[in-house]
Amino acid sequence: MAELKPVGRFAPTPSGRMHLGNVFAALLAWLSARSQDGEMVLRMEDLDTQRTSEAYARIIREDLAWLGLDYDRETPAQSTRSRIYDRYFRLLEERGLLYPCYCTRSQLHSPDAPHLSDGTYVYPGTCRDLTDRQRAAFSRSPAWRVRVPDRVWNLEDRIQGPSQWNLAKDCGDMVVRRADGVYVYQLAVTVDDGLAGVTEVVRGMDLLSSAPRQMYLQELWGFPHPEYAHVPMLLAPDGRRLSKRDRDLDLGALRQWLRPQSLVGALAFACGLIDRREPVSPRELAAEFTWEKVRREDLRLDVSALLNGG
Ligand code: GLU
Repeated sequence: MAELKPVGRFAPTPSGRMHLGNVFAALLAWLSARSQDGEMVLRMEDLDTQRTSEAYARIIREDLAWLGLDYDRETPAQSTRSRIYDRYFRLLEERGLLYPCYCTRSQLHSPDAPHLSDGTYVYPGTCRDLTDRQRAAFSRSPAWRVRVPDRVWNLEDRIQGPSQWNLAKDCGDMVVRRADGVYVYQLAVTVDDGLAGVTEVVRGMDLLSSAPRQMYLQELWGFPHPEYAHVPMLLAPDGRRLSKRDRDLDLGALRQWLRPQSLVGALAFACGLIDRREPVSPRELAAEFTWEKVRREDLRLDVSALLNGG
């Protein structure tokens, strides 16, 4: 039987220019797939239609081209796919795994609600076993949650290594559709990656805890688990995390000062893919790419030195 080709993906949120962290994740996603002669898929994650726009989607496509990160196909943007998400939502409903949740934001975030050390809350199951009469007494429309089992998930991340998760303790029953009818990220990503045949997910470390949530949904819908690689965060030399708010680090600014190969070379050097900081193209890096070379620690990147050619 022919070996199946890997399928990787870029999944940007078109709510602004890509910043350095997005570029880093996109570069590693591309290198992983292309170094194995695999495919790349682009998908615009525009569920939040208030914050996203086609204008940014166009700029992101153009920025990817400037970087030399090509892709084989673009799958439809998430904002156009609610009919498809409806189908997967109904599959969960038919299996009796969903229930309406009437809790308000302030109830969920009240100081007595159980919170984890990182500030996220664990849903305590308040609406899990309401009777039909109790449900009928609410006049507002509910969010919908999927029941999660009390069991351990083993995640083998290509960069972060092994970790164990238990959704019942990490987050509780998960919202899959908001009260305003909008499907949430976890549902949309799982459906989209599954239908596009994605076999490897490479993205920022801030999404690590989403992997077990998506693995659970994959299992319910019969999608195979992809390989995961959660890439380290980029830090300023003082240890501060670089983020979208650092406007001077988005591609709009960086493209005025840098050639794409200098930027790619700086990222490749910072994460351990090359021994010297020098301009390099993604194609050249792909020839030598292996995950073992990629450093696991957060990366400190001196962008001003980069801009001054230092
Ligand atoms: N759309 C998300 C972002 O731009 C990425 C989601 C994912 O890769 O699963 O941060």
